[in-house]
Order: sequence, then structure tokens, then C-alpha cells
Amino acid sequence: MGSRMLSYSGGDDSHFLEACSLCSKSLGHNSDIFMYRGDNPFCSQECRQEQIEIDDAKEKKWRVSLKKSMETKKKSPKSNVQTGTLLVA
Ligand SMILES: [Zn+2]
Repeated sequence: MGSRMLSYSGGDDSHFLEACSLCSKSLGHNSDIFMYRGDNPFCSQECRQEQIEIDDAKEKKWRVSLKKSMETKKKSPKSNVQTGTLLVA
């Protein structure tokens, strides 16, 4: 009776605000914390900016590679190009 279970869901939140997401510097209670995308804490504006740029670059890279793979599929509609006999004189 009276014992209440902690209904705290979300295991990943246990280390929430523990350290800077970029340089892993521990974030104390008295230090400034810069949040990014809701759940990424950073020790400084510089670190946060760095992460923003990393994410930005990742996004661009992903878009480029997606575009490339689509173009490759279009360029090679046939897979029977290399069949036949190679004649060497
Ligand atoms: Zn940092």
C-alpha cells in the first residue's frame, strides 16, 4: 500500500543534460546550457553551432547521394550489356 511505481518512460532521458553533445564536457547546474532540436544540450553556443553545421552537411550529403542513386538507376536500364564473346585479335 502506498508504494508508487515510477511511471517514467523514456530510457534515453536518464542521461538528459548530462554532458555537451559535441565535446562531452559535463554540464553543471550552474553552467549555461544551449539546447538544440529539443534534446541535445551543448556547453556553448559554438558547440551548438558546430552541431547545426554537421547536421546541415549530413542532410545535404544525404540528398546528394539519393539523387545520385536515382540517376544511376536511370542510366542503366539494361543489365545484359556485358554478355557476348570478347574477341581478341
Ligand atoms: Zn561543448
